[in-house]
Amino acid sequence: MFQCPACGELLEALTHVHCRSRHQLSKDELVARYGQPKYVAPQMSREIQRWIRESQIITRLDFEMAQASVRNQFRRRY
Ligand SMILES: [Zn+2]
Repeated sequence: MFQCPACGELLEALTHVHCRSRHQLSKDELVARYGQPKYVAPQMSREIQRWIRESQIITRLDFEMAQASVRNQFRRRY
């Protein structure tokens, strides 16, 4: 994985499409201005994967809390 030197976004590779659509620069111009894209080591992407998993756990907890609040409303009504 590579990190865009301009905006820090993680990409499979620094592409012309990204440079053009996000920065209105060609890839060469972007590299000349901001430097080479930073290679992100696999250890780093494991960190990101863990972070994504933790985010999903939080989302699931939020969902269960929402469900519980719906059940409470149901109980109060009847
Ligand atoms: Zn970028």
